[in-house]
Amino acid sequence: MTIHEILKQYWGYNSFRPLQEDIINAVLDGKDTLALLPTGGGKSICFQVPALAKDGLCLVVSPLIALMKDQVESLKQKGIPSLAIYSGMSFLEIKKTLQNAAYGNYKFLYVSPERLETNLFLEFLPAMNINLLAVDEAHCISQWGYDFRPPYMRIAALRELLPGVPVLALTASATKVVQDDICDKLLFGKTQQRFQQSFERLNLSYSVFNVASKQNKLLEILKNVPGTAIVYCKSRKHTREMADLLRLHQINADYYHAGLSNDERNKKQENWITNKTRVIVSTNAFGMGIDKPDVRVVVHYDVPDCLENYYQEAGRAGRDGKRAYAVLLYNNKEIENLQEQSAIRFPKEEEIKHVYICMMNHLQVPAGSGEGISFDFDIAVFTTAFKINILTATYAIKALEQEDIISFNEVVFKPSTVVFTTNREELTDFEKQNPALEPLLKGLLRSYEGIFDFPATVYESKLAKFIQVDIETLKKDLKKLNDYGIISYSAQKDKPQITLLQNRMYNDNYRINTSEYLKRKQNFEERAEAMIGYIKKPSGCRSQHIAAYFTPLKINACGICDNCINDKVIHISTEEFNHIANQLISCTKDMAVTVENILASLKSIKKEKVWQVLNYLMAEGKLRSDKDGKISFQAKT
Ligand SMILES: [Zn+2]
Repeated sequence: MTIHEILKQYWGYNSFRPLQEDIINAVLDGKDTLALLPTGGGKSICFQVPALAKDGLCLVVSPLIALMKDQVESLKQKGIPSLAIYSGMSFLEIKKTLQNAAYGNYKFLYVSPERLETNLFLEFLPAMNINLLAVDEAHCISQWGYDFRPPYMRIAALRELLPGVPVLALTASATKVVQDDICDKLLFGKTQQRFQQSFERLNLSYSVFNVASKQNKLLEILKNVPGTAIVYCKSRKHTREMADLLRLHQINADYYHAGLSNDERNKKQENWITNKTRVIVSTNAFGMGIDKPDVRVVVHYDVPDCLENYYQEAGRAGRDGKRAYAVLLYNNKEIENLQEQSAIRFPKEEEIKHVYICMMNHLQVPAGSGEGISFDFDIAVFTTAFKINILTATYAIKALEQEDIISFNEVVFKPSTVVFTTNREELTDFEKQNPALEPLLKGLLRSYEGIFDFPATVYESKLAKFIQVDIETLKKDLKKLNDYGIISYSAQKDKPQITLLQNRMYNDNYRINTSEYLKRKQNFEERAEAMIGYIKKPSGCRSQHIAAYFTPLKINACGICDNCINDKVIHISTEEFNHIANQLISCTKDMAVTVENILASLKSIKKEKVWQVLNYLMAEGKLRSDKDGKISFQAKT
């Protein structure tokens, strides 16, 4: 099938969006390719279509488990056999998945980067007929980017095992430095190609307000701009409070954050996509993989950390090409906070060392041991016991993670596992001596195939029912068998986990790579400065400012951001003003019309002047734009 036939058959589309086809062709030509595309902007089609056009399996590396599951689900619904491996799966599940990837007729295998170097993965890799390596969120490979994840560095080693397989690296936003670093770290070949959507968003109007009351400003914005909206807040608690406040003012709103259950999140998301909810107040967890074209306004209620995030989140407005607004609200205190962030997020080296030593003592790990072992870790208990500031501890742990010394998972659910650690003869002897434990041993052997060789996922409640004991007795007996050395029983974990990636260092040998750490700190400060520069920009186009941050390619002034509008205020006489105002009213009073139509019917008048009067009448409430971005006259009520 041709790529157009594939697009038509599986997605039902007749044509590709801008750049998609170029990217796909580069990949099919075997070129290593970097593509910068917004999230939800059809990124996944860029690797899914070429992978379907070729024989074999496409390996997709992604750090976002939820997104991974979504994509696998949607591929399956299209009838495309696909697999995923992520944390929380048992050894046997992973093994089975890898067997399928190697010997089944599958087209996609999604893997989180931590899995790439495991022996099991490497064992099956040669049998997989990999046709393309797709790296999503590719900026995570660069420590100069805003979301560095050390496991991404392992992708380079993988490339050496897959000679001749092209790489497609995808990201929503990356500066030039980070783009170069991505291509470098992923060992891009000589024929590499890069694609980047223009930063020109002709229909998106950026503006920034320093206001005493953000609440009032938000209400005003949502009243003036009808249609779907996203309001981004930093704290989960605020999302809920804000949604309540909006509802109090008769605005149809709901809230969303990553702390909600899966079902709740899906429901809230669905209601918003189908326009049952108009305004979603959310942390930045919202929007991943969502492609809702008719968002009319995105409001940032809190100052974002960096332009990378801001550009992505604001860019969710107006994907349909109709007029949309990206508004950022701030106060002076927030600017100060952002300037102070670097000292908090990058603790001093002595502080990091202190946290490391305290943590090792807390976990009772002797020096020279511990590699590969995971521990339950409650950061609140730890920081209280050792009288460490919780933010210092949080960011020291992050620094240790980025040095590949430990890994810290906030929430993992790992079901219990059991594997036999004895042979059959010994087991028979043991059973004779401990007849009370015999039903449990028989129960294990009957319920879990392969439990002699591989850890099996065991649900205690099910097993307890099966052998007719209560669950507490069962757990005690499993523990007993574990202590006798008959089985290895690792109980279910749903607490945050610290995993040691290397043995505990002797205090004298403790090292972290200072120069890179300080450079990351400096990068963070530069990103904060760029964000502040955008917010406090006194004049000059905001769209141009954002584009210049990411690329040396210049774009035209947008003409519709707050600065562009202020910059081009031109003198209009009262007589001329009234004339234009009357024209505008007469062409919008009978029906809503698009801005393009207005400009066309008033083409004898200078465009800037029309804009100025139009904006004035909109601010006065005499003209309004509806949810489709069409303008209509508002008769006095
Ligand atoms: Zn502008």
